[in-house]
Amino acid sequence: MSLETEQINELHWLMEMLHTIDVGLVVLDRQYTIQIWNGFMENHSGLLPREVKGKNIFSLFEEIPQEWFTRKAESVFLLKNKAFTIWEQRPYVFKFENYRPITGTADFMYQNSTFIPLISATGEVTHLCLIIYDVTDNAVHKIDLEQANEELAILSKTDGLTGLFNRRHWEHCLQAEYKRWTRSHNASCLVMIDIDHFKRVNDSYGHLVGDEVIRHLSDLIREHVRETDVSGRYGGEEFSILLADTSLENANVFAERLRQKVASSLIKYNDIEVNYTISMGIAEISAEQKTYEAWIESADGALYQSKENGRNRVTLYKG
Ligand code: GH3
Ligand code: MG
Ligand code: MG
Repeated sequence: MSLETEQINELHWLMEMLHTIDVGLVVLDRQYTIQIWNGFMENHSGLLPREVKGKNIFSLFEEIPQEWFTRKAESVFLLKNKAFTIWEQRPYVFKFENYRPITGTADFMYQNSTFIPLISATGEVTHLCLIIYDVTDNAVHKIDLEQANEELAILSKTDGLTGLFNRRHWEHCLQAEYKRWTRSHNASCLVMIDIDHFKRVNDSYGHLVGDEVIRHLSDLIREHVRETDVSGRYGGEEFSILLADTSLENANVFAERLRQKVASSLIKYNDIEVNYTISMGIAEISAEQKTYEAWIESADGALYQSKENGRNRVTLYKG
C-alpha cells in the first residue's frame, strides 16, 4: 500500500469514527453556521447533515440561549482556549429527548459540553468544535441520590405517627437554643406535656384509638404553636415544645389555651367517642439551668406536680 493510500485510508477511517462515535460533534464558523454534524447529532436531532449545513445554529435550535452561547464561544475564538459547561450549570445545550430504557425518568438528555478552538495553519481560530456528551445516566443517578438523601434527612428528624420532630432531633434543637441563650439571654420556655390516664384509653378502646388520640393532640399542638416554636414527640404520649423568645407568663397563656382546647375536644373513631385531658409543666430558661438536660428536668418536675395535684392542669416551675 502506498503512503498516499495509507493516508487516505486513515483519513477515511477517522471520518468514519467521528461520524459513529457516541458523542456529538458540531463544527461552527465565526458566524455560527454549522459546518460539520456527526451521526450522534443526526440521530438525536432527527436532522440530516445536509439539512443543517450552512444554517445558523440559533435559527435551527431555539432552545440555545444566544447570548450565553456566544459569550462562551467568543472567548474560545479570542483566547484560543477550551471552554466547558456541565449539566449542573445548564442541563443541556441541545434539547434532545431521552430515550434510554434505564434512565427513562428524565424528559431530556442531560449534557456536558466542550468548546474547542480549531486553529488554522496560519494560527487563527476561524472555527470551533462543539463536543456534546450524553450524561443522563450520571445526572439522573445523582438527582435521585440527592432526593433520597433529602427524604432520609427529613425522615430521620420526624416521628412517623405524628409528623412532629422525634426526640433526638428535638433535643438537638433544644441544645442549640440553650447555647443561643448563653449568648443572648432571651427568654425561652420549655413545655412538657403528658396525656392523662392514657393507659385507660388504650385499655378501654384499644391501641388504634390510643394512636388516634396521640395524632389529635399533635394536630392541636401544630395548630397552636408559632413557626419559630419547636414541637417534638418526646415519648409515647409525651410531647415537648420549645417556645422561643417567650416569657413564662406568655407560655402559660399558650399552655392554658391548649389545655382547654384538648379538654373540650371529642375524638370520634368509628362509633367510639373519647374525651381526654393533658397535664403540663413549664420551665423558663435561667442561669439556674446549668445544662439543657437540667432545663428538661425542671419542666418535667413541674409536669409531675400537675399530675400530683389532680391532672388536667398547667404548673410553672419556680426555681
Ligand atoms: P398519667 O395520667 O399518670 O400519665 O397516666 P397514664 O396512663 O398516661 O400513664 P403513662 O403516662 O405512664 O402511660 C403511658 C401509656 O401510653 C403506656 C403505653 O402503653 C401508652 N403508649 C405509649 N406510646 C403509645 C403509642 O404510640 N400508641 C398508643 N396507643 N399507646 C402508647
Ligand atoms: Mg407518660
Ligand atoms: Mg400519661
